[in-house]
Amino acid sequence: MTILRVALDVPLARLFDYLDTQSGIQVGQRVLVTFGRRPMVGIVIAIVTDSDMPLEKLKTITRAFTDEAPLPADTLRLLRFCSDYYQYPVGQTLLGVLPPRLREGEPAALPLRTAYRLTPAGIAAGIEAIPKRASLQRRIFEVLGQADAVEPAALNTISSGWRPVVKGFIEHGWAEAIELAGPATPLPTTTATAPALNPEQQHTVATIRDAGETFNVWLLYGITGSGKTEVYMHLLETLLQAPDRQALVLVPEINLTPQLESRFRARFPNHCIVMLHSQMNESERLHGWLRAQNGEARIVIGTRLSVFTPLANPAVIIVDEEHDSSYKQQDGMRYSARDVAIMRGKMANIPVVLGSATPSLESWHNAQEGRYRLLTLTQRAVSSAALPDIHTVDTRLVRPEDGISDSLFKALEKRLERGEQSLLFINRRGYSPVILCSACAWIAPCTRCSARLVVHLRQRRLRCHHCGHEQRIPPQCPSCGNPDLHPTGHGTQRLEEVLAQRLPKARILRVDRDSMRRKHAIKEMTAQVHANEVDILIGTQMLAKGHDFPNLTLVGVIDTDSALFSPDFRASERLFAQLMQVAGRAGRAEKPGVVLIQTNFPDHPLFHALQRHDFAEFAASLLDERRMAHFPPHCHEALLRAEATDYTPVRAFMAKAQQLARDLATDVTIYDPVRPQMERLKGMEREHLLIQADTRKALQGFLQAWVPLLRNLPQGGKVRWSVDVDPSEY
Ligand code: ADP
Ligand code: ZN
Ligand code: ZN
Repeated sequence: MTILRVALDVPLARLFDYLDTQSGIQVGQRVLVTFGRRPMVGIVIAIVTDSDMPLEKLKTITRAFTDEAPLPADTLRLLRFCSDYYQYPVGQTLLGVLPPRLREGEPAALPLRTAYRLTPAGIAAGIEAIPKRASLQRRIFEVLGQADAVEPAALNTISSGWRPVVKGFIEHGWAEAIELAGPATPLPTTTATAPALNPEQQHTVATIRDAGETFNVWLLYGITGSGKTEVYMHLLETLLQAPDRQALVLVPEINLTPQLESRFRARFPNHCIVMLHSQMNESERLHGWLRAQNGEARIVIGTRLSVFTPLANPAVIIVDEEHDSSYKQQDGMRYSARDVAIMRGKMANIPVVLGSATPSLESWHNAQEGRYRLLTLTQRAVSSAALPDIHTVDTRLVRPEDGISDSLFKALEKRLERGEQSLLFINRRGYSPVILCSACAWIAPCTRCSARLVVHLRQRRLRCHHCGHEQRIPPQCPSCGNPDLHPTGHGTQRLEEVLAQRLPKARILRVDRDSMRRKHAIKEMTAQVHANEVDILIGTQMLAKGHDFPNLTLVGVIDTDSALFSPDFRASERLFAQLMQVAGRAGRAEKPGVVLIQTNFPDHPLFHALQRHDFAEFAASLLDERRMAHFPPHCHEALLRAEATDYTPVRAFMAKAQQLARDLATDVTIYDPVRPQMERLKGMEREHLLIQADTRKALQGFLQAWVPLLRNLPQGGKVRWSVDVDPSEY
């Protein structure tokens, strides 16, 4: 009788023992067990011979999914590392990353279908073995040699008479039929030809290639439009020449993937490319995952969560826009997909490429210290595409009317006359319009959060952007009775209305979370802009990234000032990255671009660095500031968050947590608990406790001792708490 040590999706930092009556169960296998009274899916982590529990108390597993390949050892190892590092229960870590279908107690398999490929004998024989005049034979032989496996549908596009030809090849021992699983690979189309790399790009590709396929972290710092994506694709071309090797490409956010996907598909039409992100349906996600695991997928492109996708034979991990905050998971296991990618690369001994126009200060610092290797692309890939001119518009002198200054308005008019496009960028955080009473300065608050309600003019409603609470706009001020309530601040809807009035001929398109909710909205928006059906785009962060609009020559930045002086020490890093990104939208092709930033603080060093497109200078000054303030990356942090409907139990829990930390106190700094800026969120009273350490090791050592003590604290089930290692928000 063997004992299976099983990980289950329960909030306990331990594994559970079950008996096994079947044979053939391996580590990594999915099993179905009974936990309490409930059936649950688990993953076998170890097969052992004795248990801390008396044998007669152990239950037998209900079934094992032995027809499926078990989770590979390296994936298990990575996940267990993350469970330790991020202080998250092992079972929830493991089960949490599986596609939803695999968390259900059903067998999971790919539908099988037949495909054909050349055998080693066929490859050795080569096309010369076929007479010149047998053109159909030659054509089919050629196609079979171009892809990992070719499906009937693809062969049909060559000739409906392919079957006897392929049969002949099989009889000769030149080709073979194989069973492929999963949805059909897209048909091979003509491969988009790669542009010749410019010298900087060449140097970059050659340097990475020459360093060999061993672990190295490359920080590819290249201004927007410098051809980073092109560099990735060239790297993959080389790597994928070796059969079976795979690449994992991480991208920040769903709205980036359609563009990137089509570029990759056009370049690698004969390789199976799998997309993995949360907007795919469950069976697509399952099939993508299984095809990555069985090695069929040669390129996996995905968002944050796909960093855990099992790969049969990984060759490289690419993290595009590595600074992007969406790589950090903000609930459950609060991991950073970029950091996990690096850990994964280290474990697999393969290179990791981090790409960005505005690297995170953490990565920049690592490059300065020599832990990462820096590669730089200083020029735009298309030589005619100059960097945009960046100007500030001093809003102290002339207050902008309805949010738009005179200079910006004139610039918009000029673009309209010339038939060029403009983009108005609003930083969503903090600039949304609120309802303000002009008599008593009352501002509509959310009753459940320490936040103000945002005006949605179109629907004539107020909405909380933190908890979703909604109500109608009150007819009069609830505080003083004044009926004269006005929206203030510039939301996207407000700006759209103002512009529509002042530029009635302009075709305006608003791009924000509300208008882009529908499934293909982003794709349609992109198409509209490319077809020149839009004159002015108004948008938030969503517009700042990735899009390539050749006719866009003006970017107006409406308001940034509160981010300049935010209490969050990362705010200026984010603002700089965001403005660089959004500035990168202007003048992508032949036409030069202009960026106008409205601000009350035109002399702020951030704008000076931005005007010179000088990330390095800005990063150096921020790193200096952080060094003096002893902030990350000059220290390492963990944040304990606690919340409850009443503040009293939160206070009590935090006091105990702090005491426990002090009793342990080794070489970490323990701060006093404080209330975050959002004291109340979704009806919960919140408090934070920050831990800092000089090294990761010291922090980890402390957490390994402290968090188990927290788990044993009685809180009467009232207080919810979590630990955030390397937090990015406070
Ligand atoms: P990034 O990822 O750095 O923003 P991209 O790889 O998207 O840059 O390149 C920007 C634009 O320049 C794209 O349209 C791309 O096709 C083009 N491009 C990139 N490299 C070259 C090159 N060597 N020659 C010509 N065009 C290029
Ligand atoms: Zn009032
Ligand atoms: Zn709220």
